[in-house]
Parts: sequence; C-alpha cells; structure tokens
Amino acid sequence: MFEFDVVIGLEVHVQLKTRSKIFCCCPTEFNSPVNTNICPVCCGYPGVLPVFNEKALDLGTRVGLALNCKINNRIYFERKNYFYPDLPKGYQISQYKRPLGEEGNLLLNSGKKIGITRVHLEEDAGKSIHKQDYSLVDLNRTGTPLLEIVSEPDISNPQEAFDYLTQLKLILQYIDASDCDMEKGFLRCDANISLKRKGETKLGTRVELKNMNSFKGVRDGLMHEVKRQKKVLEQGQKIAQETRLWDENKCITVVMRTKEEACDYRYFPEPDLLDFCISKERIEKEKKNVCELPLVKKERFLKDYKLPEKEIDIIISNRVLADFFESSCNEYDDIKKMTGFFLGPFLEQINLLGTIEAIKISPGNFAKIVRYFAQGKINNLSAKKVLSSAIATDKDIDELIASRGLVQVSGEDELFAFIKEAIDGNPKAVSEYKGGKQQAIMFLVGCVMKKTKGKANPKVVKEMLQKALCQ
Ligand SMILES: [Zn+2]
Repeated sequence: MFEFDVVIGLEVHVQLKTRSKIFCCCPTEFNSPVNTNICPVCCGYPGVLPVFNEKALDLGTRVGLALNCKINNRIYFERKNYFYPDLPKGYQISQYKRPLGEEGNLLLNSGKKIGITRVHLEEDAGKSIHKQDYSLVDLNRTGTPLLEIVSEPDISNPQEAFDYLTQLKLILQYIDASDCDMEKGFLRCDANISLKRKGETKLGTRVELKNMNSFKGVRDGLMHEVKRQKKVLEQGQKIAQETRLWDENKCITVVMRTKEEACDYRYFPEPDLLDFCISKERIEKEKKNVCELPLVKKERFLKDYKLPEKEIDIIISNRVLADFFESSCNEYDDIKKMTGFFLGPFLEQINLLGTIEAIKISPGNFAKIVRYFAQGKINNLSAKKVLSSAIATDKDIDELIASRGLVQVSGEDELFAFIKEAIDGNPKAVSEYKGGKQQAIMFLVGCVMKKTKGKANPKVVKEMLQKALCQ
C-alpha cells in the first residue's frame, strides 16, 4: 500500500451577464423557443462579420480583477477549429495565446490560495437535443458570451474542489458578473485529476472528468476517481490518459474517449476581429465595480458584529442579504436581537416568497419591527405578523400595528382584568397549581393570551399569575 497525493485542476465556464450575445445583437434570454434568438452571425453564414460586445469585455475584466489576475492590455481572439453539429461555423472564436487575464488566485475559506492560470473570453456553442433515433440542434445558445476560468493544479482533494467552486460562484455573484445558475448551464465545470506517490515531484497521468451537473456532482465524481485511480496504481497498472464521464445515477465514472494525443485545434488569429488595447480607464472603472468580496466582508462582519462564524456564513452567502443585514444594524444596534430575527423570521419569509428579489421592506422598517419587539411594544407573534405583511410591500410599520391592533398589552392595569377572569373561570387549574402542579399555570397563561388575542406579553402574564395565586 502506498500513500498518494491527489492533484486537481478545474476548468469553469461561466456565462457572463449580458443582454445580447458576444458577437451579434441576438438576446441571451434563457428558455426562448428553439432557434428564435438567432441571426446570420451566430448561425455562421458565410460573409458575416462579428462585432464584439463591450459589456462582455467589461464583465470579463471585472472577473479577472476580482481573481487578482494580471489583465493583458493588448488582446486578440483566435479561431479554435473543430467540427461539431452544434457549431455551425466549424470553429469557435476564443482566446488562446493572449488571454484576457493571467496569473491570478482565489482565496478559499480555509485560507489556502488556489492559483488561477488564466481567464479568457469565448463564445458558446449550440445545443444538441438527442431524441430516440435522431438529434436536433438548437442554436439559441450559440454565441453566448462565456468566460473560461482555469485553475492551477493546486487543489488537493475533492472537498477543496467543492470549496473552490463555492467561493468562485459567490465572488461572481457578488460582482454581478454571472448568475451562475448551474441548472440553466450558466456555470459548467470540468476537472483534471491525477495521483502521484507521496513525495514524488513528477505529476501522474491525468484524467479529464466531465458531465458533472452540480458542485456535489464534482465532489462525488472526483471522490470516485481518487478511489479508482488508487486501485489501478496499487495493482501496478498505469492510468490511461482519457476523458471520463460522471454517471450520477450509478455513482461511477465511465470512459468517454481515449486521447492518443492532444487535440490539434489549429488555432490562428481571428481575421475578422482586430486586436485591441484595454484602456487604463476601462480597467480602473472595473476595479471600482469589484465590490467588497465575500471573504473580506466575512472578516469585517466577524470583527464588527462578533457573531459565530456559522451565522456570519449564512448572512454573507448572498450580497443582497449581507447588505440588508448591515443597513438594518445601522438603524438599530441590538445585534443579538437583530441577528435572531434576521436568521429566523426574516429568512423564513424569504423562503416563503421564493426569491430575495421579492423583498420590498426597507432596512429601516425591518429594524423598526425588531426594535418594537425588543422594547416590548409588540410581542414575538405580532412582530412576525407585521413582518409578513410588510416584507413584500414596505407598508408603514406604525400604521400596520395600529390598524391591526397589535400593540402588546403589557400594562399591569390592562392585564389585571384578564388575569382575574382567568383565575375565576378556571378553578380546577387554580387548585391544581396550588396543589403543587407547576404546569397548570401555563394553562392559565394560555387563557389570558387567548382573551387578549395574542397581544399580551406571556412572560409578564406568567409573573402576574404567579403573584396573584400566591396570595
Ligand atoms: Zn445572432
């Protein structure tokens, strides 16, 4: 038995968030009827000329900067030649020798840095739809702007690959460069994996792994590959250089193709697009668009709010959420109450709404609800009711509380009549309590809560009952 080091590198394709395609004006809308978002350019008709979409350049540059890449000031596109039924031109416009960005890195939650070899712009191919005994081609996706992000082989286990993807996705969403929706194919990942004996410097034969449809799929596929390659090596056999597919249902990887030699794509500079310089101004502008990144925000929140890391991780898992939390805390600084209400009822409401975009309530109004609750003006139940009425509308909080009569009844004078009524009306519970059955008091608390339509403060009610029954 030997010990092995695992060496993993990831290639991620993300769809940049532009409204039109990279070299024509066709929309990038998802789910349009097949072959409706197409024109002679993206269908590859002879004689057409591509026109480069500036927005794709801006977003690509922004990603490069967020991943600490050096942005090449002079870039050009190249043709990557290969045949595929859903690639009508017979080549893909991509970047090869001079990518948009190089030599970057991404910091993981664990503190480890993973090198980024390069980020480059390219166009997407179409989609083949395979039927029983024939295939159809949908070219809606052809020409969608993609950014390929290639990591160095710095990832040393499947879990780290999962962490890398999680962090990368979070960054891309924070800087608004991509929606990263894997189900829609906005983020796709291929992996390279090899094993080498511990201490050995020479890399082992690498296997390319494809067809992983989720981050979990990437982790599971890689875990299976580690086991499989270990077994092969322990039996004294050699790893074949091949591309394998992850079969999610059977939980195994299967051979897709064996590579005798590296593909020759016959790259050459795209003659229909001139090479060009990326101006300093453009880079400066995009630098400003790289907001505070998730891990930096996390550090700051840990320091400012002194909350458990687990809670901070939830808060920063979405930029809108994190910004909302921060603005709310600026309005009302009882962080403990704020966090409790934010992670509890607030997130519950978002789940009910199904999307964060549906939130209309302002941080000021949210903070007001929490403050009223903390000060005892409304009880927990009422606070939730107010929140559920205001979250998607941003109605006036004071008006809501007044119109629905939710002000908490906590004045002893107001409550006294209800307490007396509960005691007089429930002699059995009273005698049980006096006979030593502590639980019986909760029944009486329940009676008072019912009579006040849930507006009383249960803690005050219990104390008043205890006091009254002692006499
Ligand atoms: Zn088009």
